[in-house]
Amino acid sequence: MPQLARRIGRAKPSAIMQVAEKAKRLKGEGRDIISFSIGVPNFLPGDHVYAAARDALAKDSGQYGSNRGADAMLDAFLAHMDKVGLSGYGRVNCATGVGAKHVIYNLAEALLDEGDTIVFPAPYWTSYLDIAEIVNAKIELLPCPAAQDYKLTPAQLDAALAKKPRVFLFNNPSNPTGMVYSKEEISALADVLVNYPDTWIITDDIYNRMVFDGLGYHNFVHARPELRDRVIFIDSLSKTYGMPGWRVGFMAGPEAVAQAVVTMNSNHITNLPEVVSAAAVAALSGPQDVPVAKCAEFQAKRDQVMDVMNAIPGVVCPRPQGAFYVFPDISVAFGKTHGPTGVRIDNDVDFCNALLEAKGVACVPGSAFGEPRALRISYTCPTPQLAPGLQRFQEFFSELG
Ligand code: PLP
Repeated sequence: MPQLARRIGRAKPSAIMQVAEKAKRLKGEGRDIISFSIGVPNFLPGDHVYAAARDALAKDSGQYGSNRGADAMLDAFLAHMDKVGLSGYGRVNCATGVGAKHVIYNLAEALLDEGDTIVFPAPYWTSYLDIAEIVNAKIELLPCPAAQDYKLTPAQLDAALAKKPRVFLFNNPSNPTGMVYSKEEISALADVLVNYPDTWIITDDIYNRMVFDGLGYHNFVHARPELRDRVIFIDSLSKTYGMPGWRVGFMAGPEAVAQAVVTMNSNHITNLPEVVSAAAVAALSGPQDVPVAKCAEFQAKRDQVMDVMNAIPGVVCPRPQGAFYVFPDISVAFGKTHGPTGVRIDNDVDFCNALLEAKGVACVPGSAFGEPRALRISYTCPTPQLAPGLQRFQEFFSELG
């Protein structure tokens, strides 16, 4: 057989999917499994989204569409940008993709030549690493452990940017930690960013509508508007609107960058389908009661998870203020043995495997996100499953010795 391209050897299968598949297999064998593993919303968009899609289907032109995205969809996205205080952008500053993942992939292709450096904080969303590997970039991770609330400090950023990386990739609110940077924290980082004009700044802010405790969402451009010519804002319908399978992602930023992504689209996908675009317009511009209600529900679930994390001796768990993840440092369990099964826990993968086998609770090991002392709990499961899942998690801990 002829050989595959080297870049395929650099891309790894998703660790999150591996856990989800193991959980599914055990469920298929009749086990009672509660999944805290996959980060997908457990709700559907409002009826108006389906009505718009049906209407678009009835009027379908059957033609290719714009490589940038349908005008109405771009305008609906721009209206959201206005709403979060990022105004003054036009359609020429925007591009779309088959989900934010695809937009980020296109940006990596557009901004990074082979061997150029991309820096991002760890813990990170898993695909950042794989995308950077595929385009053969040099990756520099900035470790942000639980002891610093999983947040990047201005001093860390300053030291990293002094080496003139091509791209700084930032995620707020964060997957996997759920942490949200305050206005003051964003401002302090922005004060560093202004000093390094050779670096592009990608802010993956797809959870920007899912911020709790009245904290608000803040971007570097709010703090230092002069960064606008280097900041690329990423958005998506997947999590907020319960539309991960519809595959709609956006970017807004400098015109040349948007045009580069449009050029990539013209060679990859041509356009997002008309029906999907119409559904996107309805989601963005129609009633917002589903996302607003879900944000309130997630905040209550966050409280429920945190009550349990705080009650387990030795677990260090910074309090998330957004998205739908909690990321406890469970390294206190390492070197211990689970009494009832006799399984020894030496690392996060052992912990997650033993927890799944013994208690039927699926979590994702932190090493999938560059932090092997932790694990990720995604609390999008149906509400009635949350308390029993957390109880089993706590029981498992109490059985370690
Ligand atoms: N960025 C972050 C931080 C994510 O958590 C995800 C999905 O999990 C994505 C991007 C990708 O989103 P999409 O479904 O729009 O591709």
